[in-house]
Amino acid sequence: MPYQDILGVFDLQQFNKANGSLSVRTPVDGSELAKLQETPEANMAQIIAHAEQAFLAWRSIPAPRRGELVRLLGEELRAAKQELGRLVSLEAGKILSEGLGEVQEMIDICDLAVGQSRQLFGLTIASERPGHRMMETWQPLGVVGVITAFNFPVAVWAWNSALALICGNAVIWKPSEKTPLTALATHEIAKRALKRFGDAPEHLLQVVIGGASLGNALVESPKVALISATGSTRMGRAIAPKVAARFGKCLLELGGNNAMIVAPSADLDLAVRAITFSAIGTCGQRCTSLRRLIVHESIADQLLPKLLNAYKSVPIGSPLEQGTLVGPLIDQAALQAMQHALENAKAQGGTVHGGELVDGVKGGAYVKPALVEMPVQTAVVQEETFAPILYVLRYKTLDEAIALQNNVPQGLSSCIFTNDVREAETFVSVTGSDCGIANVNIGPSGAEIGGAFGGEKETGGGRESGSDAWKAYMRRQTSTVNYSRSLPLAQGVRFDI
Ligand code: NAD
Repeated sequence: MPYQDILGVFDLQQFNKANGSLSVRTPVDGSELAKLQETPEANMAQIIAHAEQAFLAWRSIPAPRRGELVRLLGEELRAAKQELGRLVSLEAGKILSEGLGEVQEMIDICDLAVGQSRQLFGLTIASERPGHRMMETWQPLGVVGVITAFNFPVAVWAWNSALALICGNAVIWKPSEKTPLTALATHEIAKRALKRFGDAPEHLLQVVIGGASLGNALVESPKVALISATGSTRMGRAIAPKVAARFGKCLLELGGNNAMIVAPSADLDLAVRAITFSAIGTCGQRCTSLRRLIVHESIADQLLPKLLNAYKSVPIGSPLEQGTLVGPLIDQAALQAMQHALENAKAQGGTVHGGELVDGVKGGAYVKPALVEMPVQTAVVQEETFAPILYVLRYKTLDEAIALQNNVPQGLSSCIFTNDVREAETFVSVTGSDCGIANVNIGPSGAEIGGAFGGEKETGGGRESGSDAWKAYMRRQTSTVNYSRSLPLAQGVRFDI
């Protein structure tokens, strides 16, 4: 299908301007898809003020009614799934089934949020004073600024916005400057839902197009109650102190350096499938991509040839073609970062298999996934290189494997393949993985919407999506009501006048 047909569905031509300063390129072949006008930084104060007005109206609408808007959004996303999925493939370079999977994730979070809109439960708490009732209520928070990365160009917006909306907030979205077209298309879809809903306040959902300086305007504004930022640890390090300086709230979803431990009792065929999907799927460009394989020394020589075989047979090419399993890296800079990491790995004692350039589609950054045997966990292994590089380390004891797994600055996702219940339980116990996600006999990537998603340490500590992640989008209020005729003070304090 020609690119213009994919773009045409959402009438994206309206945003394409000859004098646009943001050139949007497809990783498929590096060609230019559009030139967009960026949102002037000078407009940000007005945009934030509009969002604040929208919030003041939206917060008074009952939460189940707010859920109706998200239900309609889910319906519109279902109707547009094929078209938006294809656009994700074109703009972010994911294979078609992953592009569609990303839209499915948006639909899933809408479903979850609709149910949640009737369950914004608080607590009643036993008061120590007679004739008193204590309770906890969750109130809408305000304007939520959502800053997103290129690799999940639309799902992360949905994770945040579906919950933010039912919680009574207005949202301003600053998508990655590498994937603004999918954001504009998503905004068009959201407009359809808003139209059907009828009486939502204007400016409830806004999108701004541009780079870090627009994100920074959200970060620095005291009117933006919550900054939910997804991207590199470098970005998190830049924005977190600024949000903290104004005592704002921050929800950070940053880099990962995810590991799998393969124990002697593991089902190796299962492990090979999980390793290949999570290490080379999305061309290694998921925050949860598998980057470190920690294999017991007794099975390493059995497992590695199986993996090398699987790596050789994987179809690499245009993500828009049926049958492709590995598409391109996002751009030439990502390719250089990968080559640089492989050079460093060699210099640090690594043996590299793969990693060469591939004749994919001319103009795109197509590479063979790399498997790198490392003698120890050197500096390069401790970094997140956003590319399909899998470092392989060998271990003798489970304690050593868990120490290796935890001994990196990041703490997003982790897993163990074992059929030994003691090992499995140890891995998910207090002395096991220190990550936000710890799986058994499942790879580290491809989380479901129902669980809280996020990680520890340099991954930023945020949680999004399911479980009680909705609480991040609300303000907690504790109220004590005295229905007695006296005024006892807590802790038995006396203050009689
Ligand atoms: P990036 O950090 O380069 O950019 C992410 C977003 O932050 C973009 O919208 C960018 O414009 C904005 N930004 C960058 N610097 C900023 C600043 N100083 N102030 C305000 N905004 C700023 O990341 P990327 O290359 O788009 O994405 C890849 C990274 O994202 C990887 O590290 C990956 O692990 C991470 N990621 C994490 C998760 C997660 O849930 N933990 C999910 C997806 C991606």
